[in-house]
Amino acid sequence: VLVADRFDMLIDYNGAAAQMLQGLDAAAIGKPLAQLFLPAGKDAVSYVMSSDPLVQEEREMEWITAYGTYYYQIRSSPVLKRNGHWAGRLIMLIDVTERTLLQEKLTQLATIDSLTGIYNRTCFMELSKERLAECVLNKTPLSLILLDIDHFKSINDRYGHEHGDIALQHVVEVCSRHTRKRDLFGRYGGEEFVLCLPETSLEQAGQLANTIRKDIEGSLLFTVSETIQVTASFGVVEAAHAELTLEEMLGAADEALYTSKRNGRNAVYLSQDAGIREFTHI
Ligand code: GH3
Ligand code: MG
Ligand code: MG
Repeated sequence: VLVADRFDMLIDYNGAAAQMLQGLDAAAIGKPLAQLFLPAGKDAVSYVMSSDPLVQEEREMEWITAYGTYYYQIRSSPVLKRNGHWAGRLIMLIDVTERTLLQEKLTQLATIDSLTGIYNRTCFMELSKERLAECVLNKTPLSLILLDIDHFKSINDRYGHEHGDIALQHVVEVCSRHTRKRDLFGRYGGEEFVLCLPETSLEQAGQLANTIRKDIEGSLLFTVSETIQVTASFGVVEAAHAELTLEEMLGAADEALYTSKRNGRNAVYLSQDAGIREFTHI
């Protein structure tokens, strides 16, 4: 607990506060809070500068101590004299580090695929629906690329499940070289991945899929004991009409992907109104 006057100068503090704030001792009395909060980082300083001492409020922020970074809930409440005149404020620092880290961990578990580090299917779908709605609203194109590793079962069978896992991580790494900041990349199923590309036409998405396809084919996976070549098949679709839902787009991309598998794999097929056709480099 810290008490400050109307000018945010320290009047009093308790022992717990002295442990939380480096350099807080008797000599700190009369010093500005902003100066005392300096070792706790810029969040803490900007809090003092920006919060209204006349209003009761609560905020959570990062807090740097000599022992590491913590998360504190900061509660500020005005202190009034007996006659009702404003005298200053009381600041309470509550350590919520454990809860904040647990929440972060839970969010990560709920959104990220643990093997590959990209979005899981649920999170990918949720975020892509938002992107699709934005693109429909702005009348900009949006495309999806669905890809599935070829004969992955035989990679598991030949090299073992552990190498299969490494191959999945390898494919994700190769794909990630080509994704842009606004793209979404998710694990759609076991060895199936999906990219959501806002502001991208079918031809551009086809081009990107083909670049990724060639990169996967050309990037041999070297493990301690094995050299593994991976290829993948691709299905691409564009949300050309506002009435296409994300699920319908994925259905169309899956059909194109299936065509790619049927016609020999390691290829990119585009789904269009007119039907499915192979992407051919211009
Ligand atoms: P296709 O070219 O037709 O796609 O053949 P495929 O063998 O890739 O397809 P199939 O669906 O027959 O097999 C997919 C395999 O992927 C079966 C499953 O055991 C394996 N798999 C799924 N998830 C994982 C995983 O997390 N790790 C490993 N190592 N294998 C996985
Ligand atoms: Mg497969
Ligand atoms: Mg599959």
